[in-house]
Amino acid sequence: MTKRPDPELLKRVSKLLHARAEEMLATLRALVEMESPSGEKAAAERLSGELESRFAQLGGKTRRHENKDFASHLQVDFDGAAGKPVMLVGHFDTVYDLGSLASTPWKVEKGRAYGPGVYDMKAGIVQMMFAVNALRQASGGTLPCPVRVWLVSDEEVSSPDSRSLTERLAVECAAALICEPAQGKEGALKTARKGVGDYNLRVTGRAAHAGIDFEKGASAVHELARQILAVGKFTDLKRGLTVNPGVVRGGTRSNVVAAEAECEVDVRIRQSKDAVLLEKKFRALKVHDKRCTLEVSGGINRPPMERTAATVELFRIAQKAAKELGFKITEKATGGGSDGNFTSALGVPTLDGLGAVGEGAHAAHENIVVAEMPRRAALLAGVIAGIAARSS
Ligand SMILES: [Zn+2]
Repeated sequence: MTKRPDPELLKRVSKLLHARAEEMLATLRALVEMESPSGEKAAAERLSGELESRFAQLGGKTRRHENKDFASHLQVDFDGAAGKPVMLVGHFDTVYDLGSLASTPWKVEKGRAYGPGVYDMKAGIVQMMFAVNALRQASGGTLPCPVRVWLVSDEEVSSPDSRSLTERLAVECAAALICEPAQGKEGALKTARKGVGDYNLRVTGRAAHAGIDFEKGASAVHELARQILAVGKFTDLKRGLTVNPGVVRGGTRSNVVAAEAECEVDVRIRQSKDAVLLEKKFRALKVHDKRCTLEVSGGINRPPMERTAATVELFRIAQKAAKELGFKITEKATGGGSDGNFTSALGVPTLDGLGAVGEGAHAAHENIVVAEMPRRAALLAGVIAGIAARSS
């Protein structure tokens, strides 16, 4: 039986957050105006430092995890009354090149805020900050449970550096709440995400003059075309398994039999067991033209986040909190991956989509609904309180 968090507590949290709505928006602007592409270490490091000082001011114990290729990931631990920490997960890198602010500057128009990374997911970070602070204040100065904030700098490039840290920090926690954007107009929470992988097919053939000695050539392009048709057949929509040969390169000129060709393939799976199935199929690919060679590399890099009983329980807690706050919350499954895929695959109860409501992730018109910020922050606080009430 899930215990309800004190409804009076949620009312106080909501009031505090709505009173600070303008401050939330100003904080968001400050974060958006510090550009932080995953690949720009120095720029992203400045934002990492800014976030560290803001979280330190809130009384969190901060630790920056330096690494070679990306800005430091930021860990912040807040003390609480009892129990294991609840982990709030996010990323402060964006997909936008340095200088994007010039063409898509910060602006607020008709109740929406625009700017690079505003929706994915700087607003989610602001909501974390204010949620933790308001919850502590509304609880008489002590959080009902410890809270661990974990912000990485390489999520948009598949979390190559942060993954092992995310996993290590998550297993110490009671639950992982992922503050990635909510889904769609109604701002649904995400209770399932597909697993994601990349495969690369590389064919080496034999070059020849297409006019003089065509028969001496072995076309890598022709061979690759047959491989593409083969992997295309791995798609099984009913299973939620898709294989997308998205990028193709090959050959040099039309009058040369191509010696090289390659294809980048995106794969998505709904069930973790399909990773093995797909891996077997890719590794079993054989060349049709024996004079060509085929190299297959890559694999699944994010396991699926399955809709487990533990995730459903967290969603029920969120539903109750939303009801107390006067709105309705729904759940959705998505094909996109997040760091929630990692925490969930380890058996850490995970709920995703607790960030901003908006639209246009990774697009120039990316924006959030400003009025949703205090409400969603209150929801996040409510879920933390609900988890603490459950385990107390
Ligand atoms: Zn994101």
